[in-house]
Formats: sequence, C-alpha cells, structure tokens
Amino acid sequence: MINDINTPTIALIGRSNVGKSTLFNWIAQHNFAIINKTPNTTRDRNYKSVYFADNKYTLIDTGGLCFNSKNLMNKNIIKQTYLAINEAHLILFIVDAKDGLLPQDIVIANKLRKINKHIIITINKCDSKKIIEQKTYQFYSLMKAPIYNISATQGLGIKSLFNKIELLLNNSTKIKLDNNNYIKNNFFAANKQINTKKIKIAVIGKPNVGKSSFLNKLSNKNRHLISNKPGTTRDMIDSLITYKNKNYLFIDTAGIKKKRNINNLIDKQSITTTLKSLDRCMLALLLIDIKKGITDQDLKIASFVQKKAKGMIIIVNKCDLISLNKTSQNIYSKQIKAIMPFFYFAPICFISSLTGKNIFETIKDINIVFNNYFKKISTSKLNNFLKIITKIHKPPIINGTQLKLSYIVQSSIAPPIFIITCNQPKKIHFSYSRYILNKLHKHFSFTGVPLKIIYKNKKIVKLNCYEYNKIKL
Ligand code: GDP
Ligand code: GDP
Repeated sequence: MINDINTPTIALIGRSNVGKSTLFNWIAQHNFAIINKTPNTTRDRNYKSVYFADNKYTLIDTGGLCFNSKNLMNKNIIKQTYLAINEAHLILFIVDAKDGLLPQDIVIANKLRKINKHIIITINKCDSKKIIEQKTYQFYSLMKAPIYNISATQGLGIKSLFNKIELLLNNSTKIKLDNNNYIKNNFFAANKQINTKKIKIAVIGKPNVGKSSFLNKLSNKNRHLISNKPGTTRDMIDSLITYKNKNYLFIDTAGIKKKRNINNLIDKQSITTTLKSLDRCMLALLLIDIKKGITDQDLKIASFVQKKAKGMIIIVNKCDLISLNKTSQNIYSKQIKAIMPFFYFAPICFISSLTGKNIFETIKDINIVFNNYFKKISTSKLNNFLKIITKIHKPPIINGTQLKLSYIVQSSIAPPIFIITCNQPKKIHFSYSRYILNKLHKHFSFTGVPLKIIYKNKKIVKLNCYEYNKIKL
C-alpha cells in the first residue's frame, strides 16, 4: 500500500494563527479546515491535491508550532509538523505581518535553517500597501530565503507565490499531469477532475472510538494525531490511500458529541464539518467501540448517514479487548441490527485498529458497497422481479380495491431510487413497501446501500435522469 505523496509536496509551517489554514483553504477552494482564533485549532496534518498551471502538488496544512509548551498535545503537533517537513519538497514558512516578528518565528527559523529543503518565507496578512511598507522589513533578517507578501483572506500575491514554487520545484520533482484537460490557473476546476477517480469514504463515530487509529493502521503511517482525550481530531482530515491500484479518500471527522456537550464554537463547527464530510462522501464507516456498545450518540450519528442516504458499513472496533468467536460475532451482529433496524442492509466488520485484525476486510466491504451504490438494474430484470415477488406475497386489498403494482424502473443511482407504477400510490402500506425493499436488497445484492421507492400512478415511459450530479465527484 502506498500513500499518494509522490507529487511535489508543499508543507505550510509556522506558529499558530498566522493564517496557514486560511491559505490552505484559499488554495484548495474548499472549506476543509476549521478557521478559528483559538490557537492550535488545526491540530493534525491535512492533505490536499491542488493544481497550478500544468502541475499537481500535494499541500500539507499542519498545526501551529509552539516549542515552549510542555503539554503532550503540543509535542504531538510538533511531531506531526516534523513528519510534514520530512515529506515536503518545499516549505512555506508562514509569518504574520500584523503581529510582526515574534520570538517563536525566530525559533522556527532556527530549526528550518538546518533543513536542506526549499523554503519560502511567506508573509501573510499583507492586506494593504501600508502594512507591507511598515511591517514586512523585520522578516528579512530571519534567514536567507525568497520572501513573498500575501493576503490569504483576500487571495493577494498567491499566484506570484505559486509561480515561484513552480520555478523552484521545476526540474527536481515536477510530475506532469496525465490528463491535460484542465483549466489553467484554475485550482478548483482541476481539483474536481482528480476527485472523480477516488472512492470517498467518511470515517465517523463518537470521540475515542478509534477513527484515527483505524486510519493510521490502514495507511501504515503515523499521519493522524492520536490521543485518548475526546475531540482531538477537530477537523476534517483527508487521507488518500492507494490499495491494489485503487484510490480511496478517507475523510476522518471530528467525533460528534452529544448536544449538551456542544458548549463551544469548535464543537459546533465539528458537527457541521462531519455533516459536510458526509456530503462529500459516497459511503460512511460508522465506528463503534465494542466495549461501550451502541449508545444514543451512535444512533444519532447513524441517523445523519440515513438522512444523507449514503452507503453504510458498521465497524466494530477494539475487538482485541474481548474474546470473540463466530457465534459471539453473530449474536453481536443481531443485537446491532435490532438496535439499528434502519441499517439492516449494512455489513458489519469486527476489527482491531490496535492489532490490525481484519483491517483490510473493510476495504473489501468498501468496494462492494461502492459498486452497489452506483449499480443500475435493467428494467426487464426489475419487472421480472416484481412479477415474482407479487406472486409470492400478493399486494393487499385497500379499501375494497386490489392494489396493483404494474411497472418498476430504476430512476437513479447513488443512491438507487426505484419508481413503481401502481393504482393506489398514496395508500401503500409501510409493511408492504418494506417487503419490496427487503426483496430488492436481497435479490439484487444491494448490500450496504439505502434504497428508495417512489410510488406513482402514471407509467413512466422513459427515464434518463441518472443522478450522477447528486454526488459531488
Ligand atoms: P493558523 O493557525 O496558522 O492555521 O491560522 P488561521 O488560518 O486559523 O488564521 C488565524 C486568524 O488569522 C483567522 O482569524 C484568520 O481569519 C486570520 N487571517 C488569516 N489570513 C489573514 C489575512 O491575510 N489577513 C487578515 N487580516 N487576517 C487573516
Ligand atoms: P478517535 O477519537 O475516534 O479518532 O479515537 P483514537 O484513534 O484517537 O483512539 C482513542 C483511544 O482508543 C486511543 O487511546 C487508542 O489507542 C485506543 N484504540 C483505538 N483503537 C483501538 C483498538 O482497536 N483496541 C484498543 N484496545 N484500543 C484502541
């Protein structure tokens, strides 16, 4: 398994609050990272592929460096930052024109001076000419490196900065795009193209169930920040993993907390971020802690997946903590299905992120659910199916009139939606509809995928409305 970090890689390094996330967001054109005035909001490394001119780059956003602090979290951030520096071909050393030169900037400069890599001092918050004239001169003594003035909030100077990056990385690490059909200098349009090749998976669950540990084990690299303090991963962290020639983009989200615990802005933002991550994905992995069982919080999180109609895989983690055999797994699976009947179709995987047990079984399930999410069943197969199931279990008589289901067609994929033409569309009983749904799931093997049936009383002759666009690929 290889992580896709073989493109020219740029790390954004600097103390807290200098505007790294703002710059990262401007470039990525996606509101991925949480921007907040509380120092150390971006605690982990966040990866994003971007294009400039005809080159692809990997951008790494890191937590703010703070060398004086003694607490573990800051040690972890420093460790993550060093890992980012190691992976990078070029470092954007971000400083803040408004604050001016601070001792922490000098400490970082001293560390960076020992690294034999391209460095560009990037003076952010140069919102006006006055600031540039009055504030930027202080940074010229920091180190021998090119200096660029930018404003991340206004997008000023960033293209000039990338022109310089292009020049510096030109011959050493440049990798040409295989697909030249991009729009020059348009980061956003180009980003959309590479995304079409990936299976996007949101990794969700309450804090401390092992989301980061799971992804660490999968990517076999300490890319995610792990801590046993709930709420460590406050932001969306994208990890691109290539396995057997397929690309998987895992979106690790903040653990969703109970409503009464949402007592500060960051936690509210984390929930929004989690919901956004579901919008971006095709399927979700819901992680559950086997020791804790399924709580109301898990159900609440699962309901978000249901609302967004995404594919679903339930991952029971920390299985190393109890002794499990086939029988106890079956019992546990039945209990999960009883507590979450609305996810009767979801596969359940028993894993340990600590030992790595069954970790790659999840990839098999991801492939199955992904294929099912985009599966299209032919109209002739569907109508044969309808004939058979209505023979086995005859539709009921409603108010003295026999319910007749005459025709079925699949109107969309991702998620699959079916339209059934019948004589009493508004009077179909829930239990008969559930019978059809269950049969559709089983007969056409729609494992892991939510299905929807719409009942209509006029025959739909032709439907071309495949809703590929519903998902932002
Ligand atoms: P990070 O900790 O280095 O990632 O910093 P953030 O990106 O979270 O930004 C910290 C604060 O600086 C936020 O309030 C941003 O809105 C603000 N900020 C970032 N870039 C600029 C800029 O170019 N001009 C101004 N005036 N503020 C900025
Ligand atoms: P997250 O908040 O969901 O991302 O959870 P973390 O990945 O940060 O893990 C929370 C805690 O659970 C850490 O102390 C991990 O070492 C521990 N943990 C994660 N996965 C496992 C597992 O499979 N087995 C055991 N025993 N502990 C685990």
